[in-house]
Amino acid sequence: MNNIDFLSLNKLILSCSNILLTTHLNPDGDAIGSILGLYHFLKLANKNSRIVISDPVPQNLKFLDGASEIEIFDDNKNYPWFESLDLILILDLNDVTRLKGLEKFILKSNAKKVVIDHHIEPKEFADFYLIDTEASSTGELIYKIITQDKLHKINKSIAENLYAAILTDSGSFRFPRTDEEVHLIIAELIRNGADPVKIYEEIYNKNSYNKIKLLGKGYSNLELFFNNIFCLMTLKKEDFLTTKTDSSDLENFVESLMAINGVKIGVLIAEIPDANEIKISLRSKGNYSVRDLAVKFNGGGHLNAAGARVINESLESVKKGLMKETQNLFFF
Ligand code: 5GP
Ligand code: MN
Repeated sequence: MNNIDFLSLNKLILSCSNILLTTHLNPDGDAIGSILGLYHFLKLANKNSRIVISDPVPQNLKFLDGASEIEIFDDNKNYPWFESLDLILILDLNDVTRLKGLEKFILKSNAKKVVIDHHIEPKEFADFYLIDTEASSTGELIYKIITQDKLHKINKSIAENLYAAILTDSGSFRFPRTDEEVHLIIAELIRNGADPVKIYEEIYNKNSYNKIKLLGKGYSNLELFFNNIFCLMTLKKEDFLTTKTDSSDLENFVESLMAINGVKIGVLIAEIPDANEIKISLRSKGNYSVRDLAVKFNGGGHLNAAGARVINESLESVKKGLMKETQNLFFF
């Protein structure tokens, strides 16, 4: 695997002209914030760049400057300008399958491909990798790439987007990788125009009434297992239908289970409406590697935050499998 450092990547970016930015399916705050932060930097540097991703921008991130310029990949469309790309920057993912339909376009492109990410165990498919698994977020890595360049200063659009990326991926500065350096970067972002009150309000306090009703459905059927260490939230298709919600409303559901005293592993299994898919979201504290658990279902992620999607299986059978694998991994 070819690693690249911050300065070399900065130089590589500035030496290219036609740049595609992309990130993972079901993009979160880090995916969107870091991609837009980098996009505004490329604008300052007069690069011809476009953002194409596989799933829509979540509602609560649409306020971010540049969000309306993000293009959603459409399998039925042609992308002739893909031919003229000289650089593809792939953010916040290290497994090419998380690009969905974009995967085949990216793999066959002649452009240089660079992965910028903080997840563990990257898969080999790109030309260069800038990976720091100790980083709080991809947003933090983008900050370090951008600030190698003394010519282009961080403007308000960059600052706001990177602030949003770090805020969301650090769990509002609570998760273990929130260190002194993260706060120093945050200070710089505030100095350059990021407004912490406004950004928090937009991202976390604009929940729809329906979403909170769905969360209520989840809370009403919580279960504890394995000596009350393991908390499970289950959502059925009908829960989405009766509350008029969809999978994009699940953001932060599983996190809330970690606020229960004694719970070390929080799991959400949800039967996604309009798809033959069960979404599994996993969170943990300490050394319980939910990534190892996710891998059993062909998913992945981090030690304390992971997920998977299971196709063509019933909720009951996914739940059974999950119990069995959890028992084998952690409580044998
Ligand atoms: P979430 O529960 O928020 O959907 O996902 C948490 C983390 O788990 C993500 O940041 C990502 O790293 C990982 N993850 C979620 N779903 C999948 C998946 O289907 N495949 C892989 N490889 N990782 C996933
Ligand atoms: Mn991230």
